Amino acid sequence: MNLFLILLIIAAALVLLVNLLLHYLRKPVDVQPLPQEWRKLLEKDVPFYIKLDAGKRKLFEERMMHFLATTRITGVNTEADDTDRVYIAASAIIPIFGFNNWEYINLTEILLYPNSFSHDFDQTGDERSVLGMVGDGALNNTMILSRHEVRQAFLNKTSKSNTAIHEFVHLVDKTDGAVDGVPEFFLDKEYVLPWLRQMQENIQQILRNRSDINPYGATNEAEFLAVAAEYFFERPDLLQSKHPELYALLSTMFRQNITGSASTSRKA
Ligand SMILES: [Zn+2]
Repeated sequence: MNLFLILLIIAAALVLLVNLLLHYLRKPVDVQPLPQEWRKLLEKDVPFYIKLDAGKRKLFEERMMHFLATTRITGVNTEADDTDRVYIAASAIIPIFGFNNWEYINLTEILLYPNSFSHDFDQTGDERSVLGMVGDGALNNTMILSRHEVRQAFLNKTSKSNTAIHEFVHLVDKTDGAVDGVPEFFLDKEYVLPWLRQMQENIQQILRNRSDINPYGATNEAEFLAVAAEYFFERPDLLQSKHPELYALLSTMFRQNITGSASTSRKA
Protein backbone atom coordinates (compact mmCIF):
# COMPACT_ATOMS: atom_id res chain seq x y z
CA MET A 1 0.00 0.00 0.00
CA ASN A 2 1.53 3.33 -0.90
CA LEU A 3 1.97 6.22 1.52
CA PHE A 4 -0.62 8.42 -0.21
CA LEU A 5 -3.33 5.81 0.27
CA ILE A 6 -2.43 5.39 3.95
CA LEU A 7 -2.59 9.17 4.50
CA LEU A 8 -5.94 9.29 2.70
CA ILE A 9 -7.39 6.58 4.94
CA ILE A 10 -6.08 8.34 8.07
CA ALA A 11 -7.59 11.66 6.90
CA ALA A 12 -10.96 10.03 6.17
CA ALA A 13 -10.94 8.33 9.57
CA LEU A 14 -10.15 11.67 11.27
CA VAL A 15 -13.02 13.44 9.48
CA LEU A 16 -15.38 10.65 10.53
CA LEU A 17 -14.16 10.84 14.12
CA VAL A 18 -14.58 14.63 14.32
CA ASN A 19 -18.09 14.40 12.87
CA LEU A 20 -19.08 11.68 15.33
CA LEU A 21 -17.66 13.74 18.20
CA LEU A 22 -19.54 16.87 17.08
CA HIS A 23 -22.72 14.84 16.79
CA TYR A 24 -22.47 13.51 20.36
CA LEU A 25 -21.33 16.84 21.84
CA ARG A 26 -24.27 18.71 20.31
CA LYS A 27 -26.37 20.26 23.05
CA PRO A 28 -29.75 18.58 23.33
CA VAL A 29 -32.59 20.98 22.53
CA ASP A 30 -34.30 22.15 25.69
CA VAL A 31 -37.98 22.03 24.76
CA GLN A 32 -40.34 23.54 27.35
CA PRO A 33 -43.97 22.47 27.78
CA LEU A 34 -46.57 24.85 26.35
CA PRO A 35 -47.75 27.31 29.04
CA GLN A 36 -51.48 27.14 29.79
CA GLU A 37 -51.92 30.82 28.85
CA TRP A 38 -50.53 30.08 25.39
CA ARG A 39 -53.04 27.26 24.95
CA LYS A 40 -55.86 29.71 25.68
CA LEU A 41 -54.49 32.02 23.02
CA LEU A 42 -54.40 29.16 20.48
CA GLU A 43 -57.98 28.23 21.36
CA LYS A 44 -59.09 31.83 20.93
CA ASP A 45 -57.19 32.97 17.85
CA VAL A 46 -55.90 30.05 15.78
CA PRO A 47 -58.74 28.32 13.83
CA PHE A 48 -56.29 25.77 12.41
CA TYR A 49 -55.51 24.58 15.96
CA ILE A 50 -59.17 24.67 17.03
CA LYS A 51 -60.06 22.17 14.30
CA LEU A 52 -57.51 19.58 15.46
CA ASP A 53 -58.48 16.66 17.70
CA ALA A 54 -56.87 16.31 21.14
CA GLY A 55 -53.97 14.12 19.95
CA LYS A 56 -53.10 16.40 17.05
CA ARG A 57 -53.34 19.50 19.27
CA LYS A 58 -50.74 17.98 21.57
CA LEU A 59 -48.47 17.25 18.61
CA PHE A 60 -49.00 20.79 17.27
CA GLU A 61 -48.04 22.26 20.66
CA GLU A 62 -44.91 20.10 20.88
CA ARG A 63 -43.79 21.12 17.42
CA MET A 64 -44.41 24.80 18.23
CA MET A 65 -42.29 24.56 21.36
CA HIS A 66 -39.53 22.73 19.50
CA PHE A 67 -39.58 25.49 16.88
CA LEU A 68 -39.28 28.17 19.57
CA ALA A 69 -36.44 26.29 21.28
CA THR A 70 -34.44 26.26 18.03
CA THR A 71 -35.33 29.67 16.53
CA ARG A 72 -34.48 33.06 18.05
CA ILE A 73 -37.14 35.75 17.80
CA THR A 74 -35.65 39.22 18.17
CA GLY A 75 -37.58 42.47 18.29
CA VAL A 76 -35.99 45.38 16.39
CA ASN A 77 -37.27 48.72 17.74
CA THR A 78 -40.04 46.69 19.32
CA GLU A 79 -40.28 43.92 21.86
CA ALA A 80 -41.41 40.43 20.93
CA ASP A 81 -43.86 39.22 23.57
CA ASP A 82 -45.60 35.90 24.23
CA THR A 83 -48.47 36.65 21.85
CA ASP A 84 -45.96 37.25 19.04
CA ARG A 85 -44.19 33.98 19.89
CA VAL A 86 -47.43 31.98 19.85
CA TYR A 87 -48.62 33.51 16.55
CA ILE A 88 -45.23 33.10 14.85
CA ALA A 89 -44.68 29.52 16.05
CA ALA A 90 -48.23 28.56 14.99
CA SER A 91 -47.62 30.12 11.55
CA ALA A 92 -44.39 28.14 11.27
CA ILE A 93 -45.98 24.78 12.07
CA ILE A 94 -49.23 25.15 10.08
CA PRO A 95 -47.66 24.65 6.59
CA ILE A 96 -45.43 21.75 7.70
CA PHE A 97 -47.90 19.96 9.97
CA GLY A 98 -48.53 17.25 7.35
CA PHE A 99 -44.83 16.34 7.42
CA ASN A 100 -43.98 14.78 10.77
CA ASN A 101 -40.24 15.23 10.74
CA TRP A 102 -39.94 18.50 8.86
CA GLU A 103 -37.85 21.24 10.45
CA TYR A 104 -36.78 24.60 9.03
CA ILE A 105 -33.09 23.78 8.68
CA ASN A 106 -32.64 27.07 6.77
CA LEU A 107 -33.78 29.33 9.62
CA THR A 108 -32.09 30.37 12.86
CA GLU A 109 -33.52 33.82 13.63
CA ILE A 110 -36.63 35.90 13.07
CA LEU A 111 -36.32 39.68 13.27
CA LEU A 112 -39.57 41.31 14.27
CA TYR A 113 -40.02 44.88 13.00
CA PRO A 114 -42.86 46.99 14.41
CA ASN A 115 -44.39 47.71 11.00
CA SER A 116 -43.80 47.37 7.28
CA PHE A 117 -40.29 48.20 6.00
CA SER A 118 -38.53 49.03 2.75
CA HIS A 119 -36.41 46.68 0.64
CA ASP A 120 -33.38 48.35 2.30
CA PHE A 121 -34.81 47.50 5.76
CA ASP A 122 -35.67 51.18 6.33
CA GLN A 123 -38.39 51.41 8.96
CA THR A 124 -39.18 55.09 8.57
CA GLY A 125 -39.15 56.13 4.89
CA ASP A 126 -42.04 56.36 2.41
CA GLU A 127 -41.18 53.15 0.57
CA ARG A 128 -42.21 50.77 3.31
CA SER A 129 -44.18 48.21 1.35
CA VAL A 130 -42.56 45.01 2.59
CA LEU A 131 -44.53 43.09 5.23
CA GLY A 132 -42.16 40.15 5.54
CA MET A 133 -39.21 38.55 3.81
CA VAL A 134 -36.94 35.55 3.78
CA GLY A 135 -33.33 36.72 3.93
CA ASP A 136 -30.63 36.07 1.37
CA GLY A 137 -26.86 36.58 1.34
CA ALA A 138 -25.76 38.05 4.70
CA LEU A 139 -29.29 37.52 5.96
CA ASN A 140 -29.41 33.85 4.99
CA ASN A 141 -31.18 31.80 7.69
CA THR A 142 -33.03 34.94 8.80
CA MET A 143 -36.65 35.94 8.31
CA ILE A 144 -38.02 39.44 8.85
CA LEU A 145 -41.64 39.95 9.82
CA SER A 146 -43.77 43.00 10.54
CA ARG A 147 -45.23 42.63 14.01
CA HIS A 148 -48.33 44.53 12.94
CA GLU A 149 -48.94 42.08 10.07
CA VAL A 150 -48.31 39.00 12.21
CA ARG A 151 -50.99 40.20 14.63
CA GLN A 152 -53.47 41.32 11.97
CA ALA A 153 -53.53 37.84 10.45
CA PHE A 154 -54.88 36.33 13.68
CA LEU A 155 -57.15 39.20 14.69
CA ASN A 156 -58.93 39.42 11.33
CA LYS A 157 -60.82 36.13 11.15
CA THR A 158 -62.20 36.48 7.61
CA SER A 159 -59.10 37.52 5.69
CA LYS A 160 -57.39 35.23 3.17
CA SER A 161 -53.98 36.63 4.19
CA ASN A 162 -51.35 35.63 6.68
CA THR A 163 -47.94 37.24 6.16
CA ALA A 164 -46.09 34.87 8.49
CA ILE A 165 -47.50 31.74 6.79
CA HIS A 166 -46.58 33.36 3.44
CA GLU A 167 -42.93 33.68 4.49
CA PHE A 168 -42.74 30.17 5.95
CA VAL A 169 -44.05 28.77 2.67
CA HIS A 170 -41.25 30.66 0.86
CA LEU A 171 -38.81 28.92 3.23
CA VAL A 172 -40.28 25.52 2.40
CA ASP A 173 -40.01 26.41 -1.31
CA LYS A 174 -36.38 27.51 -0.77
CA THR A 175 -35.30 24.21 0.81
CA ASP A 176 -34.71 22.52 -2.58
CA GLY A 177 -32.40 25.38 -3.59
CA ALA A 178 -34.83 27.38 -5.76
CA VAL A 179 -37.64 29.71 -4.68
CA ASP A 180 -39.69 28.94 -7.80
CA GLY A 181 -43.19 28.01 -6.63
CA VAL A 182 -42.41 24.28 -6.85
CA PRO A 183 -41.54 22.89 -3.38
CA GLU A 184 -39.92 19.70 -4.57
CA PHE A 185 -39.65 18.04 -1.16
CA PHE A 186 -43.41 18.46 -0.69
CA LEU A 187 -44.65 17.71 -4.17
CA ASP A 188 -44.33 14.22 -5.67
CA LYS A 189 -43.02 14.27 -9.25
CA GLU A 190 -46.35 13.24 -10.79
CA TYR A 191 -47.97 16.41 -9.44
CA VAL A 192 -45.36 18.89 -10.66
CA LEU A 193 -46.84 19.34 -14.16
CA PRO A 194 -50.46 19.66 -12.96
CA TRP A 195 -49.24 22.19 -10.35
CA LEU A 196 -47.32 24.26 -12.94
CA ARG A 197 -50.44 24.27 -15.15
CA GLN A 198 -52.66 25.24 -12.20
CA MET A 199 -50.33 28.13 -11.29
CA GLN A 200 -50.28 29.45 -14.86
CA GLU A 201 -54.07 29.27 -15.24
CA ASN A 202 -54.66 31.09 -11.96
CA ILE A 203 -52.04 33.75 -12.66
CA GLN A 204 -53.73 34.42 -16.01
CA GLN A 205 -57.12 34.75 -14.28
CA ILE A 206 -55.66 37.21 -11.77
CA LEU A 207 -54.13 39.26 -14.61
CA ARG A 208 -57.50 39.32 -16.39
CA ASN A 209 -59.15 40.53 -13.18
CA ARG A 210 -61.20 37.35 -12.93
CA SER A 211 -59.98 35.99 -9.62
CA ASP A 212 -60.53 36.60 -5.92
CA ILE A 213 -56.93 35.53 -5.22
CA ASN A 214 -54.62 38.31 -3.96
CA PRO A 215 -53.23 39.99 -7.15
CA TYR A 216 -49.75 39.89 -5.60
CA GLY A 217 -49.84 36.18 -6.48
CA ALA A 218 -49.49 37.12 -10.16
CA THR A 219 -46.00 38.57 -9.50
CA ASN A 220 -44.38 35.21 -10.26
CA GLU A 221 -44.83 31.52 -9.43
CA ALA A 222 -43.05 31.73 -6.07
CA GLU A 223 -45.42 34.48 -4.94
CA PHE A 224 -48.38 32.57 -6.35
CA LEU A 225 -47.52 29.54 -4.20
CA ALA A 226 -47.14 31.68 -1.06
CA VAL A 227 -50.37 33.64 -1.67
CA ALA A 228 -52.38 30.52 -2.57
CA ALA A 229 -51.07 28.79 0.57
CA GLU A 230 -52.22 31.73 2.72
CA TYR A 231 -55.72 31.38 1.20
CA PHE A 232 -55.61 27.57 1.67
CA PHE A 233 -54.76 27.76 5.37
CA GLU A 234 -56.83 30.84 6.24
CA ARG A 235 -60.07 30.12 4.33
CA PRO A 236 -59.95 26.46 3.23
CA ASP A 237 -63.73 26.10 2.77
CA LEU A 238 -63.95 29.20 0.59
CA LEU A 239 -60.96 28.12 -1.49
CA GLN A 240 -62.45 24.66 -1.99
CA SER A 241 -65.77 26.06 -3.17
CA LYS A 242 -64.27 28.71 -5.46
CA HIS A 243 -61.20 26.85 -6.73
CA PRO A 244 -61.73 23.09 -6.21
CA GLU A 245 -58.79 22.00 -8.39
CA LEU A 246 -56.40 24.43 -6.74
CA TYR A 247 -57.61 23.31 -3.31
CA ALA A 248 -57.11 19.64 -4.24
CA LEU A 249 -53.54 20.20 -5.40
CA LEU A 250 -52.61 22.28 -2.34
CA SER A 251 -54.19 19.63 -0.12
CA THR A 252 -52.01 16.99 -1.83
CA MET A 253 -48.93 19.23 -1.59
CA PHE A 254 -49.26 20.04 2.11
CA ARG A 255 -50.73 16.59 2.95
CA GLN A 256 -53.58 18.25 4.79
CA ASN A 257 -57.32 18.25 4.25
CA ILE A 258 -58.51 21.11 6.40
CA THR A 259 -62.06 21.89 5.28
CA GLY A 260 -65.07 21.33 7.51
CA SER A 261 -66.16 22.86 10.78
CA ALA A 262 -64.14 22.78 13.96
CA SER A 263 -64.76 20.06 16.52
CA THR A 264 -64.90 22.78 19.18
CA SER A 265 -66.76 25.54 17.43
CA ARG A 266 -66.05 29.17 18.08
CA LYS A 267 -68.85 31.33 19.47
CA ALA A 268 -70.00 34.18 17.20
ZN1 LIG B 1 -43.57 36.60 -0.97
